[in-house]
Amino acid sequence: MSLKLYNSLTSKKEIFKSISGKKVKTYGCGPTVYNSPHLGNFRTFVFYDLLNRVLKMNGYKTETAVNITDIDDKIIDKVNEQKTTLKEVTSKYELSFMELSSSLKILPNNYNPRATDYVNQMIEFIQTLIDNDLAYEMDGNIFFSIEKYPHYGKFVKINDDLEIEDIDLSKKNRSDFTLWKARKEKDGEIFWKSQWGEGRPGWHTECAVMIKTLFNGQLDIHCGGIDLKFPHHENESAQIEAIQKHNLSNYWLHAEHLNVDNEKMSKSLGNFVDVKKLIKENGSNIVRLFLLSAHYRTKVSFNQKKIDDCKKMINKINRFASNIIKSDEKINLKFSEDHNKFIDALNDDLNTPEALGVFFSFVTKMNKKIAENSFNDSDNIKSFIFLKLFNSIFDIIDLDNLQENEIPKEVQDLLVSRQEARDNKDWKLSDNLRDKLSEMGWIVEDSVDGQNLLKKK
Ligand SMILES: [Zn+2]
Repeated sequence: MSLKLYNSLTSKKEIFKSISGKKVKTYGCGPTVYNSPHLGNFRTFVFYDLLNRVLKMNGYKTETAVNITDIDDKIIDKVNEQKTTLKEVTSKYELSFMELSSSLKILPNNYNPRATDYVNQMIEFIQTLIDNDLAYEMDGNIFFSIEKYPHYGKFVKINDDLEIEDIDLSKKNRSDFTLWKARKEKDGEIFWKSQWGEGRPGWHTECAVMIKTLFNGQLDIHCGGIDLKFPHHENESAQIEAIQKHNLSNYWLHAEHLNVDNEKMSKSLGNFVDVKKLIKENGSNIVRLFLLSAHYRTKVSFNQKKIDDCKKMINKINRFASNIIKSDEKINLKFSEDHNKFIDALNDDLNTPEALGVFFSFVTKMNKKIAENSFNDSDNIKSFIFLKLFNSIFDIIDLDNLQENEIPKEVQDLLVSRQEARDNKDWKLSDNLRDKLSEMGWIVEDSVDGQNLLKKK
């Protein structure tokens, strides 16, 4: 089955078509680095990783970016409250984001651009919008004029009920959004100089300019949490698409919230689960499995029972894996029907619960064969392939611990005798023993690290 993704632009599942052959460019909105990300944030970041891995499974070469928002009101407030520097606050939480990402097996991105490294490009970009009559200045603030862009409102119906940012600022149209914010007294020493005076870029411009700079303003897939759809993604794309003649991104994917007692998990509600603590108490594999066990477009409620269920699932996989013997990597690894069902589930808009179901029914089937003593070599190879395939997406089992192919005792004894002969510089005996091993179907190669044993094909 070809890869299908639910596109927020059309509110439909669509067959994924890349812009350029087997190359895919993706961008996900990243963390605002003023505190440690909570579990709800990581649901989104693990979803980016899932998308990346499923694209790779389909043979695509991905070029991925997840940005670091290091200019923001909340960061500036924290810096001024704690009388410290911007860098001190942001580098601490950027590091914590990176450490938790790696602990949750999120594959590294090609780029993690920081807003502070692109301020010059942002100023240049805003000037281009002004020059094209798409933006205007008022009291040192620069606003994007939504009237000048007829396609504004791709994600929502624009009406008076919408929650609008910066309503306290004077602007021409209440829905116009801020590209550049003039320096306020409470900003302290955090500001950048521009032709419009001191200030700082707005969040929507930060992402837009990083995408423009890194990907020339054209992505295959843009993703984010569902609450970013409006106004962030609306405003991000409006700025870019108003001056370029093509889409910013062909596909927009949005992940649902993680709830606690039916309320969205958020720092402001104070109901967040600390990821670091959860990993420490349960292990990162269990947390990763929990985050992947529900479909990314469904709301999920967090509770300890779900974490305990994931623990049981991992134990079940590990018990099964302990029966599997590693197969030679060079054997022809062909997918069978069970494997294809797993791939199809993931290609159906990243349906992880369905994929998990396919995998566990395979495990149950094989466990039955093991119990009945009818588990044969072909079942072993199939199982080994499935464990590897499963791990290429879920990445929660340690395949290095699988049983190795066993070398017969007689062969091992001959290898020890041969090593003794070589230590005594008895090359004749060493050669004879090598011939004997060869007759038994084993090839010995000598290297600086000692003898390497290979089974003849
Ligand atoms: Zn963004």
